[in-house]
Amino acid sequence: MTLPSLFVSHGAPDLPFQDAPAVDFLKQLGAQLPRPKAILVVSAHWETRSPAVSTALQPQTIHDFNGFSPEAYALQYPAPGAPELAERVGKLLTAAGLTVTLDPDRGLDHGAWEPLLLMYPDADIPLTQLSVQPGLGAAHHLQHHLQLGQAIAPLRQEAVLILASGAATHNLRAFGGYTFDAAPPAWVTEFDQWLEAAIAQGDVDALLSYRQVAPHAAQNHPSEEHFLPLLVALGAGGGRGTQLHHSTTYGILSMAAYAFGEAGVKAGEAGAKAAG
Ligand code: ZN
Repeated sequence: MTLPSLFVSHGAPDLPFQDAPAVDFLKQLGAQLPRPKAILVVSAHWETRSPAVSTALQPQTIHDFNGFSPEAYALQYPAPGAPELAERVGKLLTAAGLTVTLDPDRGLDHGAWEPLLLMYPDADIPLTQLSVQPGLGAAHHLQHHLQLGQAIAPLRQEAVLILASGAATHNLRAFGGYTFDAAPPAWVTEFDQWLEAAIAQGDVDALLSYRQVAPHAAQNHPSEEHFLPLLVALGAGGGRGTQLHHSTTYGILSMAAYAFGEAGVKAGEAGAKAAG
């Protein structure tokens, strides 16, 4: 069994309580995929100087946000850790020439548990988390995250689901200017559509230079940590991807999700047929 690598947009921490197409999509996604043996989450919300992976036996649920309802702070995702998978990730990254740290204490941030809560509500699949490195400098960080994905690609053949979690568009300076159901402004839609086309074409060069060639790139990603997981999913999937879902929340947060790798392309085509 070969699994696709996935990129999902996790939205705001109140997403699980919303009545939204993105919630319905994530709830269906877990049931549609072959059941993974374990999950490796690459979340925008764990930033480190060099790659780190959690060996926690029972990762704590981290509520790494401010200003949301008490219900959001009460959410828990008590899935077991996957220290053996973490060590395997460490070996794969080391073999690729990357420095890696095994972190025995790191829990799950909301970039990780929010989509998982919807995809796998029973919280019974062992999982671990891999960090992102937005601080490497513009000349290196995009290629670096592609390389991270390429290094962990063999896990797809080992029934491990690579779940990269970020946001297709993510300008939090504009957050609060729109209601939850607001239509996206043109600067969001134009970037979002460019991204879909570049992924569908497997245009890795364009994605690596998105900052220069995509419309409104810096406006949609003032900081890049929410874009970087996409490159890990791309590297792990190798080549073109398929859009599995598209909607927006709060006007400025695209909820676009993509599957990479041949299995992901097939899943996207099946999903498109079912939807159409
Ligand atoms: Zn986020």
